[in-house]
Amino acid sequence: MASPQAQIQPCRYKTGKTLGAGSYSVVKECVHIDTGRYYAAKVINKRLMAGREHMVRNEIAVLKRVSMGHRNILTLVDYFETMNNLYLVTDLALGGELFDRICRKGNYYESDAADLIRATLSAVAYLHDHGIVHRDLKPENLLFRTPEDNADLLIADFGLSRIMDEEQFHVLTTTCGTPGYMAPEIFKKTGHGKPVDVWAIGVITYFLLCGYTPFDRDSNLEEMQAILIADYSFTPLEYWRGVSLPAREFIRRCLTIDPAARMTSHEALSHPWIADSTTSENNEDLLPTVKKNFNARRTLHAAIDTIRAINQLRAGGAAGMMDGVVSHDPKRGAAPSAKPSQVPQPVAEGSDPMEIDSRNNGHGQTEEMIREQERKIRETTQGMWRR
Ligand code: ADP
Ligand code: MG
Repeated sequence: MASPQAQIQPCRYKTGKTLGAGSYSVVKECVHIDTGRYYAAKVINKRLMAGREHMVRNEIAVLKRVSMGHRNILTLVDYFETMNNLYLVTDLALGGELFDRICRKGNYYESDAADLIRATLSAVAYLHDHGIVHRDLKPENLLFRTPEDNADLLIADFGLSRIMDEEQFHVLTTTCGTPGYMAPEIFKKTGHGKPVDVWAIGVITYFLLCGYTPFDRDSNLEEMQAILIADYSFTPLEYWRGVSLPAREFIRRCLTIDPAARMTSHEALSHPWIADSTTSENNEDLLPTVKKNFNARRTLHAAIDTIRAINQLRAGGAAGMMDGVVSHDPKRGAAPSAKPSQVPQPVAEGSDPMEIDSRNNGHGQTEEMIREQERKIRETTQGMWRR
């Protein structure tokens, strides 16, 4: 039953192919029946909101006010409800997600990363000026408006997921999400205001320059512990040699534990790496490294999930299959050999009979380490199948 204030209307849109999906919603291409114009519709099932519809409606009202005001924010075109769903109709972003697009490029320089971060920051500063904290900034929520080279980068996904998951620890334990972009104060429960977005920008910047995230660990718990003490470094050196000092300094100023000492979004916009990046003399093509690290990590996460599944089966835990709790993946859609959504965690963390120190304490890996791990994984899985 809808609440009394809800206005139930017939749907004026015809939906088409699915563009993407999150934990609470499906995003579909749609066409407005009267005008023939194409849009994207985010469809949220009311059953999943369990009495929190009013919060969503509130947030949508705010977003409606700001979403037209900045070229790097996805415009909310329409909003309506049917008996079962909420519909957020937005512009169609035809240029795809940020990281997919980078991977498809022929080359990619530090100044390109600075341009992308500048666009994101400018939208974030605009949101902050209007009293809005996004709370869910990550590469999957950054989309390009068109496939053209000079297309605008858009902040999509208006952080509704944070309304849905008020309890952050709930997110950690029950979804496939990684805490990777979350600020320390979120875990400490000491606040989650505007500074959390700047922290996330720091994580995204780090990721855009090397292809892995700074706090990447084998488990969400370890990752959270690393975030709490900002345990990250610009290593291995082979991947950071080509990255300028201003870029590192920018990341450091974003990944500052104390939210009060962290840069604000406006300070970040005037940081030399962002403000004077056209004068950057750093001409190294980062694409080969970024792509390689990203793919290595994806393969590795899939392998870890496979090994965990095997361990679980060996330990007689087949009943736990389909629990949906998985090791995090740097990106949705891991290698097809191990569907993350179907692979459970090991029975007990630390008692994993085939524990692999997969990520060298979370920092990037050298070629040699990747080869060694691939060998280990091969041996382990081969041994398994022979049994
Ligand atoms: P969720 O809150 O469930 O994460 P998102 O708004 O992030 O939902 O959308 C999920 C995915 O759907 C995105 O990562 C993106 O790939 C795709 N998507 C979302 N909005 C659009 C859009 N306006 N145009 C094209 N694709 C979109
Ligand atoms: Mg999203």
